[in-house]
Amino acid sequence: MTEKGTYIFNKKRECMDRKELEKLQLRRLKNVVNYVYDTVPYYQQQFDQYGVSPDDIKSLEDIRLLPFTTKDDLRKTYPWGMQAAHKDDIVEVHSTSGTTGIPTVVGYTQKDIEIWGEVVARGLAMAGVHKHDTVQNSYGYGLFTGGMGAHYGGQKIGAVVVPTSSGNTNRQLSFMKDFPTDFLTCTPSYGLYLAESLQKQGIDASEIPLRAGVFGAEMWTEEIRHKLENKLGISAHNIYGLTEAIGPGVATECMEQTGMHIQEDHFYPELIDPNTLEPVDPGEKGELVITTLTKTGMPLIRFRTKDLTTLTYEKCACGRTTVRMGRIFGRSDDMLKVKGVIVFPSQVEEVLMKMEELAPAYMIEVSRPDILDIIEVQVEPDPSFLTGTLRDIEELRSVIVKKLKEALGITVKVTIAEPFTIPRSEGKATRVIDHRDFS
Ligand code: ZN
Repeated sequence: MTEKGTYIFNKKRECMDRKELEKLQLRRLKNVVNYVYDTVPYYQQQFDQYGVSPDDIKSLEDIRLLPFTTKDDLRKTYPWGMQAAHKDDIVEVHSTSGTTGIPTVVGYTQKDIEIWGEVVARGLAMAGVHKHDTVQNSYGYGLFTGGMGAHYGGQKIGAVVVPTSSGNTNRQLSFMKDFPTDFLTCTPSYGLYLAESLQKQGIDASEIPLRAGVFGAEMWTEEIRHKLENKLGISAHNIYGLTEAIGPGVATECMEQTGMHIQEDHFYPELIDPNTLEPVDPGEKGELVITTLTKTGMPLIRFRTKDLTTLTYEKCACGRTTVRMGRIFGRSDDMLKVKGVIVFPSQVEEVLMKMEELAPAYMIEVSRPDILDIIEVQVEPDPSFLTGTLRDIEELRSVIVKKLKEALGITVKVTIAEPFTIPRSEGKATRVIDHRDFS
């Protein structure tokens, strides 16, 4: 293991022979299915209704006999109906934001916290975090899992974790320079905001000793990766997770940056067609379904994440044998249907973030003033490209309209806003506002 290079945190688990891994997964699957049947009345009732018993699980494929668990099931059983462990064994609680309805609360046992630290540690090591490094953790701390997840992972490695949380950007920048900070963990939108703030203060990225960052908790594109890497002078790695499953750390990207390795000894992934609910063909896009194999607080059986991605079982050049998931390119429930055409916000982002003339901030608004949907995109010019002449702005606007039309197949209204007027986010960014009334 070299001082600045990458290394494998848990070689025994991350580089397992696939046959051995599958044996381990099957053993753990049988355990967790028996465990939830015995401890969670909701699961027992569901399994009985489907006519499936824990004894029916004889191979990994048999997982398909089990019913899916959805966000709706978690809402119906709010707050503690899905917990398997006794309250005495719960040591920490996290919760989803609940912006789209009743939040999901998740209780963690001490063992769950240890697993969480382990999987995030594996992910941070993939991006090159060593025990002598300093990790600035700018994820929000609190009920949101980003803060504590990265915190436990960094500590598990033995690195110095600086729990700055998000916000107070000037102090964040001074710490980075003064401590100095080797690694950054935060949402990609906050990473961009930090980069913009550096630029605004006239600080060159080379004065900031950061080597790499791990970014997650929201959808982002390759174009955002390039901006983060160029503006902060780092390598930017993707991390995936969800509160329901454990938090960040379900999967992380290694130095190859060709997809995120899923920690398969703890999380069993499936990819399904969200309409037919059947498995998709290898290499096809589908909705990720996760079964937690080792959690004891609130285990999940076949949880439909709604996140759309791909899976590749090809061996990675880094030596790890675990399956890799691609970037989340959309959610099965965040597709916008505009004028009958399906639009994913990530398609808009991809076009905008490729343009050097634009700042890394945008907003999509969808409305239906009478019978037709209108999609409006607000962008900001990058201050270094701003000439200020109306003609240049009009030209920029028409170039964006043309590029979006090519990518989406529909004409989009584009508005150019004044620099630094589109709200930046210190946590998860809200970039789509849907004004349509579907009631
Ligand atoms: Zn790899």
